[in-house]
Amino acid sequence: MSTFLGLPARRGLRGTSPEPALRGLRGSRPEPVHAPRGVGHLRGSEDFPAAARRALSDTQLRRNLGKATATIRAKRAAVVGELPDWEELRSAGQAIKAETMANLGGYLEQLEAAVTARGGTVHWARDAIEANNIVTRLVQAAGATEVVKVKSLATDEIGLNDALAAAGITASETDLAELIVQLGHDRPSHILVPAIHRNRAEIRDIFVAEMGDADPALTDDPVALAEAARRHLRRKFLSATVGISGANFAVAETGTLCVVESEGNGRMCVTLPRTLITVMGIEKVIPRWADLAVFLQLLPRSSTGERMNPYTSMWTGVTPGDGPQSVHLVLLDNGRTAALADPVGRAALHCIRCSACLNVCPVYERTGGHAYGSVYPGPIGAVLSPQLTGVEDNASLPYASSLCGACYQACPVKIDIPTLLVHLRARHIELQRGARRVPSAEAITMAAASWVMADPGRFAGAQAASRSGRLLGRRGTISALPPPLAAWTRARDAPVPPAQTFRQWWHSQHRDDAEPGPSSQADRDAQ
Ligand code: SF4
Repeated sequence: MSTFLGLPARRGLRGTSPEPALRGLRGSRPEPVHAPRGVGHLRGSEDFPAAARRALSDTQLRRNLGKATATIRAKRAAVVGELPDWEELRSAGQAIKAETMANLGGYLEQLEAAVTARGGTVHWARDAIEANNIVTRLVQAAGATEVVKVKSLATDEIGLNDALAAAGITASETDLAELIVQLGHDRPSHILVPAIHRNRAEIRDIFVAEMGDADPALTDDPVALAEAARRHLRRKFLSATVGISGANFAVAETGTLCVVESEGNGRMCVTLPRTLITVMGIEKVIPRWADLAVFLQLLPRSSTGERMNPYTSMWTGVTPGDGPQSVHLVLLDNGRTAALADPVGRAALHCIRCSACLNVCPVYERTGGHAYGSVYPGPIGAVLSPQLTGVEDNASLPYASSLCGACYQACPVKIDIPTLLVHLRARHIELQRGARRVPSAEAITMAAASWVMADPGRFAGAQAASRSGRLLGRRGTISALPPPLAAWTRARDAPVPPAQTFRQWWHSQHRDDAEPGPSSQADRDAQ
């Protein structure tokens, strides 16, 4: 039996008391609960380096990504530049999220009480299996075999569509990009633009082959493609009795759920069906209604480069005679409490899924999202996925970064992703160290480097010796070093050592200066 926050499982469709679970959240160190292995889409089937190497050879992918990310970057920069208080907004967003995480249990309780008071039902899911079971049973209870879905990373994370399909229920994605991914039997590769790796000719081919009701003469004109999708989806909206959504925010104070989107398809899903089921990661709760004023400025500018989202849908429980009359909220842990237990790592839970960090990341721009092997790609995926699954799974992701810091600069809630990456690398090294009987080649190399650098004479001698590396170089780079340094050059070129060290250059420029001179025979030899 799996546990939610390390406590015994609680079953049932109707909201059971959250008290035992929240006792775990309120403590500063809840017992870590990771996402179950093999369920959902949090773990890659291969390491990032292998997947990235394959992605890098796909020139069409690199062209599509380069064009799309450059366009979004330019739009974001323009609208962010309009706000003189952008930095203050970022700080406000960071502070609200930090406050929320410090009292997550209390705000979740408040949210449940508010949703319940307005006629909704709250369910608690420890992991993907529980969440999928809850949603499946709710759909079955509604007598439906088809559901329409709003774009939702949380449901992608738990593999909800697969779970519903196993129960004979067809889930139709209604976000245009998600529809393209679903019809193409593909995986999303970007948080905001899941089909960013597809160009319009590819999309046209997918529609004609898979949509069923697409005109074979359909062109790849974007207007024609959108019209074909609109006609296809309209039929589904009008016949579906169950809608499934995620949530961008949930206001503890009022019990209001909020979804932002650009197409209006999400609004169809949350208003037309009789039953509405929302699956939401527990970190999406915010304390107050007024906090939305901060996030509804930060999110659209950082994600789509818009001043506000074209559609902001909010609902609070059930409104008699208007909209869904059966409203459910599934609160999903699936590894989040494990992240919360890490005082440094928990900052990843502040993420509002804007994708700005993806669009500025030099690694993401070249490899695309599939290489990360997780539903959360890019810099945020590199720090979130290993924490949800446990760092021993997805261990290669914290290394999928040059640590350039562009993600930190772009993040609207100031998540210091480079610090988290280094923190997770350290956790991974510690885990490896604990598991090994003999030190790794890297550990031996680092110990040797430490010994050399601890003494100026040894360091100068090593510099002199390293100049022999010039023999290995061609056109300024060394593409293959001998073991144990070969691992470095398998993934990158090493620069050829300069003909002159800095120390030698300095002495040549300051011959007449009083200077301490070589500190050892090795140092003198180096000159
Ligand atoms: S980490 Fe920051 S920049 Fe990246 S998706 Fe989350 S909120 Fe956006």
